[in-house]
Amino acid sequence: MGAKLIDGKETARQIYGELQTHISTLGKRGVVPHLSVVLVGDDPASQVYVGMKQKTCEKYGIRSETHRLPADTPAEGLLALLDRLNRDRDVHGILVQLPLPQSISAPQVIERIAPEKDVDGFHPVNRGRLVSGEECYLPCTPAGIQELLVRNGFSPEKKHIVVVGRSLIVGLPFAIMMMQKKKGANATVTLCHTGTQGLEDYTRRADILVVASGRQNTVTGDMVRKGVVVIDVGVNRIDDPSTQRGYRLVGDVDFTSVSEKAAAITPVPGGVGPMTIAMLLVNTVKAAERQS
Ligand code: NAP
Repeated sequence: MGAKLIDGKETARQIYGELQTHISTLGKRGVVPHLSVVLVGDDPASQVYVGMKQKTCEKYGIRSETHRLPADTPAEGLLALLDRLNRDRDVHGILVQLPLPQSISAPQVIERIAPEKDVDGFHPVNRGRLVSGEECYLPCTPAGIQELLVRNGFSPEKKHIVVVGRSLIVGLPFAIMMMQKKKGANATVTLCHTGTQGLEDYTRRADILVVASGRQNTVTGDMVRKGVVVIDVGVNRIDDPSTQRGYRLVGDVDFTSVSEKAAAITPVPGGVGPMTIAMLLVNTVKAAERQS
């Protein structure tokens, strides 16, 4: 393997170090950043994500609790809880873990969160501000990818970034962030999706390739040029009887063949995942600073 590993855990640690100053300044004013997480149903992956978020908050001095609601909770019950959390001056950030059960409209729920407490950056007000280049809560995964690149010496400025995937939580907002005339951005961006013909014609022209397709092996070694920097956002569970859990996690990129040609690449796990959580804590601290 020729590629340098871009270490998300280490980069996240740097961010936590910097956050401590903010948290202790708030503490001197008697303010403890406070995140409320809402989990509806018992989706196993969501349980794991929520558990990791809560544990990390506790580790770094952020107050956090999870409101667990049964899968058959009526939408009105969830909306009433959000109204209560919106009014609670002690709560600075609110996060509703997605996906929600099919009977509940996710857009309706997200719109109910007060925009100033929307630390996931999914509320239409924050999305609109992002598109306009205004101050907002950046969605955590795209913000984490930007930090990973900049802090590891791979500035996006003036580069050609190819993004695979146009979801509202990863690909699209990341593409928008990268094309803005701002520090840590100002790139030329190509956004690919399932309507893209000849994906490899685009991926081969990337200086920086960000893959968020949700499908294993979307990008293989023959689809990239030598020296590319690769950010693999994907998290896919594949059966592996040789492990204790019976499965392991892989990304959307074929790590073995792509790392032969890449200058640098993120591992899965240990790449983008820890950065997403770090940026959630950054947004929560920002929310506490703005509201206190
Ligand atoms: P998503 O909502 O399923 O979106 C996938 C996107 O990829 C869609 O835009 C889809 O195109 C596109 N796509 C799928 N297959 C493709 C292909 N063969 N060629 C080109 N485009 C293709 O997924 P997501 O929520 O963005 O998540 C993507 C991956 O990132 C998942 O594995 C998820 O688990 C992971 N993820 C990780 C983190 C983290 O913190 N590590 C956070 C969020 C997500 P269409 O729009 O045309 O359907």
